Amino acid sequence: MRIPLIAGNWKMNTTLSEAIELVSQMRPELEKIGNVDRVICPPFVSLAALKELLEGSSIKLGAQNLYFETRGAYTGEISPLMLADLCDYVIIGHSERRQYFNESGELINKKVKAALKVGLTPVLCIGEGLAENEAGKTEAVLAAQLDSSSEREYYSGGLVLAYEPVWAIGTGKAASGEQANETIGFIRQHISRQHGQGTAQQVRILYGGSVTADNIAEFINQPEIDGALVGGASLKAGDFLSIVKQTSEVK
Ligand code: PEP
Repeated sequence: MRIPLIAGNWKMNTTLSEAIELVSQMRPELEKIGNVDRVICPPFVSLAALKELLEGSSIKLGAQNLYFETRGAYTGEISPLMLADLCDYVIIGHSERRQYFNESGELINKKVKAALKVGLTPVLCIGEGLAENEAGKTEAVLAAQLDSSSEREYYSGGLVLAYEPVWAIGTGKAASGEQANETIGFIRQHISRQHGQGTAQQVRILYGGSVTADNIAEFINQPEIDGALVGGASLKAGDFLSIVKQTSEVK
């Protein structure tokens, strides 16, 4: 049994006071929803205050990135050790980081390893671009991303995967439930071939890309999909709550 997970990726949105306001709005209802892991990933600068606000809560926090070194002369970077004190999850390899910050599979692999070493649960994002999708290269791209950025032991450490087709992120053009299910099924098969059936069946794989309160049911009704990584809709308290509630009712 894979516990469903809904994670909100706030990206570079919310000031500290906006973050506190948004979590304060969601907390009472979000807290009550059972059998779904609920994760909020605000900007780094709000993590400490939100940790305090969520003291004793079943709602978890995640970061949106990290650097793989523990400490040192890396101006502007945030280390796994710093995050381990503040949150439980960390998004790694988001397509925006691959695209705007040139993150390679090799770098992403180091980040996943470093996150696991301090007990953080990485949410590793993979996904094909529009041109790759149209050229029929989706499976090859996903297999290459998985092979370069994950290793067998990461799965026993609780690694979570998020399949996020780049053409669906922030565009309002989500994949269909069937499309996402089929592709996540492929990802699971690939993991099974590389690391065995048991590992493939235990790993949680989320869908991400223009998920809303109106289309979440399409995804969570699919057997291969274990939840969602939600961008834009996670910034609206009512929408995020609805997404989590619907997931809890279906899964
Ligand atoms: C994301 O940021 O991972 C994402 C899927 O964004 P959106 O839901 O806005 O498409």
